[in-house]
Amino acid sequence: MIFKLMALLAVIFLVYMVFFKKNREEKINKKNHDIIDNMDECPTCKTFIAKDDAILSNGKYYCSSECLNK
Ligand SMILES: [Zn+2]
Repeated sequence: MIFKLMALLAVIFLVYMVFFKKNREEKINKKNHDIIDNMDECPTCKTFIAKDDAILSNGKYYCSSECLNK
Protein backbone atom coordinates (compact mmCIF):
# COMPACT_ATOMS: atom_id res chain seq x y z
CA MET A 1 0.00 0.00 0.00
CA ILE A 2 2.80 2.42 0.90
CA PHE A 3 4.48 1.68 -2.44
CA LYS A 4 1.34 2.65 -4.33
CA LEU A 5 1.22 5.91 -2.43
CA MET A 6 4.90 6.60 -3.15
CA ALA A 7 4.42 5.81 -6.84
CA LEU A 8 1.48 8.17 -6.97
CA LEU A 9 3.50 10.91 -5.30
CA ALA A 10 6.36 10.32 -7.75
CA VAL A 11 3.99 10.68 -10.72
CA ILE A 12 2.49 13.87 -9.29
CA PHE A 13 6.00 15.21 -8.68
CA LEU A 14 7.11 14.41 -12.26
CA VAL A 15 4.00 16.03 -13.76
CA TYR A 16 4.56 19.08 -11.57
CA MET A 17 8.22 19.31 -12.67
CA VAL A 18 7.30 19.04 -16.39
CA PHE A 19 4.68 21.79 -16.11
CA PHE A 20 6.95 23.98 -14.03
CA LYS A 21 9.81 23.62 -16.53
CA LYS A 22 7.54 24.39 -19.49
CA ASN A 23 6.17 27.45 -17.76
CA ARG A 24 9.70 28.67 -17.02
CA GLU A 25 10.85 28.15 -20.63
CA GLU A 26 7.87 30.17 -21.89
CA LYS A 27 8.78 32.97 -19.53
CA ILE A 28 12.41 32.95 -20.77
CA ASN A 29 11.24 33.01 -24.41
CA LYS A 30 8.95 35.93 -23.67
CA LYS A 31 11.83 37.79 -22.02
CA ASN A 32 14.05 37.29 -25.08
CA HIS A 33 11.25 38.60 -27.28
CA ASP A 34 10.93 41.70 -25.16
CA ILE A 35 14.64 42.39 -25.52
CA ILE A 36 14.49 41.99 -29.33
CA ASP A 37 11.40 44.20 -29.52
CA ASN A 38 13.21 46.82 -27.52
CA MET A 39 16.17 47.00 -29.95
CA ASP A 40 16.41 49.10 -33.10
CA GLU A 41 19.07 49.99 -35.65
CA CYS A 42 20.62 53.42 -35.67
CA PRO A 43 20.06 54.67 -39.27
CA THR A 44 23.40 56.49 -39.35
CA CYS A 45 25.96 54.00 -37.99
CA LYS A 46 23.83 50.79 -38.26
CA THR A 47 24.45 49.87 -34.64
CA PHE A 48 21.72 48.04 -32.75
CA ILE A 49 20.75 50.02 -29.71
CA ALA A 50 18.18 49.69 -26.92
CA LYS A 51 15.26 52.02 -27.48
CA ASP A 52 15.43 53.01 -23.82
CA ASP A 53 18.89 54.52 -24.38
CA ALA A 54 18.21 55.90 -27.87
CA ILE A 55 17.22 59.34 -29.08
CA LEU A 56 13.88 59.28 -30.91
CA SER A 57 13.61 61.65 -33.86
CA ASN A 58 11.11 61.48 -36.78
CA GLY A 59 10.15 57.91 -35.77
CA LYS A 60 13.76 56.67 -35.92
CA TYR A 61 16.01 55.73 -33.03
CA TYR A 62 19.51 57.20 -33.03
CA CYS A 63 22.31 55.91 -30.82
CA SER A 64 23.69 59.38 -30.05
CA SER A 65 23.19 63.05 -30.82
CA GLU A 66 26.19 62.84 -33.21
CA CYS A 67 24.34 60.30 -35.39
CA LEU A 68 21.16 62.36 -35.13
CA ASN A 69 22.87 65.47 -36.52
CA LYS A 70 24.73 63.72 -39.38
ZN1 LIG B 1 24.54 55.75 -34.48
